[in-house]
Amino acid sequence: MIEKKNFYINGSWVAPKNQKDIQVINPATEKSCAVISLGGKEDINDAVLAAKEAFKTWGFSSKQERVELLEDFYVLYKKRWSDITDAIIQEMGAPKDFASKLQTGTGASHTKSFIRYLKEFEFEKPLGEHAKNQRLIYEPKGVCALITPWNWPINQVTLKVIPALASGCTMILKPSELAPLSAMIIAELIDEAKFPKGVFNLVNGDGAGVGTHISSHPEIDMVSFTGSTRAGRLISKNAAETIKRVCLELGGKGGNIVFADSYKNAVRDGIRNVMSNSGQSCDAPTRMLVEKSIYKRAVDEAVDEANKINVDQASKKGDHIGPVISKTQYDKIINLIESGISEGATLAAGGPELPNGLNKGYFIKPTIFTNVTNDMRIAKEEIFGPVLSIIPFETEDEAVNIVNDTSYGLGNYLQTEDKEKAHRVAKKLRSGCVYINGNAADAGTPFGGYRQSGNGREGGVWGLEEYLEVKTVTGWK
Ligand code: NAD
Repeated sequence: MIEKKNFYINGSWVAPKNQKDIQVINPATEKSCAVISLGGKEDINDAVLAAKEAFKTWGFSSKQERVELLEDFYVLYKKRWSDITDAIIQEMGAPKDFASKLQTGTGASHTKSFIRYLKEFEFEKPLGEHAKNQRLIYEPKGVCALITPWNWPINQVTLKVIPALASGCTMILKPSELAPLSAMIIAELIDEAKFPKGVFNLVNGDGAGVGTHISSHPEIDMVSFTGSTRAGRLISKNAAETIKRVCLELGGKGGNIVFADSYKNAVRDGIRNVMSNSGQSCDAPTRMLVEKSIYKRAVDEAVDEANKINVDQASKKGDHIGPVISKTQYDKIINLIESGISEGATLAAGGPELPNGLNKGYFIKPTIFTNVTNDMRIAKEEIFGPVLSIIPFETEDEAVNIVNDTSYGLGNYLQTEDKEKAHRVAKKLRSGCVYINGNAADAGTPFGGYRQSGNGREGGVWGLEEYLEVKTVTGWK
């Protein structure tokens, strides 16, 4: 078992001031795979002091210096690929191939993309031809708290840490206490790349402790948070007193409109998309809306595809899905599956029993409900497990209204071969991203939500700008 009790503060690994240890549980085995410490106020104060001191010089570092350090980091990241992958397999039970290609892969692609955007970014420019003596200067925001979830651990960490470093901010990272191991490798890489001490700090902890302290800390200028809408609300309240910038990337309840003229594999691809990462993606298209004329065929295909998805151990190679993150999450998902049955939806695939042959670990069968109405809990609440609701519709407007009838607005999907309809519907869907015909977004596109899915945009130039202030200087000759 790995012991990872120390925090990375001011360029060194230091022992926590108040020692409270917790076990990190591998959800595939239900066994402890590591011990970490939870920080307290004193640890946070030390990290904030270090970050504040480091900002005095790092905040004025040159773009070239930051580019070179990030390029070194990128090289080191690729060298530690298999260590990062192993950490993700252990901490969240992600299957081997998925953990390597997709989970670890996102960290590399975000780093590469941010380096490119940093190189192109103009930190100083005139307001325009009409006002050349008015100078706009983009400056780093200051000391940032970065709070990340467990479901795409390295994706979320790199989406925050890399642009914060690139913009000249200093920071305290608090990764999820459920999946802190891959984030600790990022701290090792930052150390190895020789970023100045105090620029990056890592303190482990839970939401109620460290999360609350950093959200309300008067010397922290900004909180960038990815996680549940519930925690996003609490962070906003805690941050309000100190008027810090709060960037929120929250939950979702994506819709996937499958029109009768969609491409051949649209339904099957939709099923794979929802079940990927065991359904634990904020932009998973968990409500599939199917045009009535193809409803029966779509349901048959969906059930067939769900039944083909294997559920198995994280340590194995292959394209199977693994467990969900924790017992708490497992119980919540099973409860929602049971609510679907009791509210009258038809259980067409999967269900609350353990998948065959797996009697240890938090495994859930790929589950499909049909005849779902949008007022059922399974259609309204973010389940965050391998569970899909299929809802029939007759007209384009009806489909759009059902998709938009949610408090969330993160990622929506639509499938049709009619280009004009695709463009029209994409504009009507109230979400930060709309994916047409299975096309994924490239690194560097802005990612974020409308409504209760958040208020930020991560990725590309938008991700950099979140960590910047813009200053106007007049009379610049
Ligand atoms: P969570 O909100 O329980 O925890 C996320 C992080 O916040 C953890 O580090 C946790 O310790 C911390 N936290 C919890 N309560 C806090 C509080 N009161 N103050 C400060 N910090 C607190 O979420 P989770 O279960 O780790 O992640 C799943 C959620 O994340 C889902 O809702 C998912 O949709 C969302 N998510 C959103 C995006 C996005 O980009 N929009 C991406 C990934 C995940």
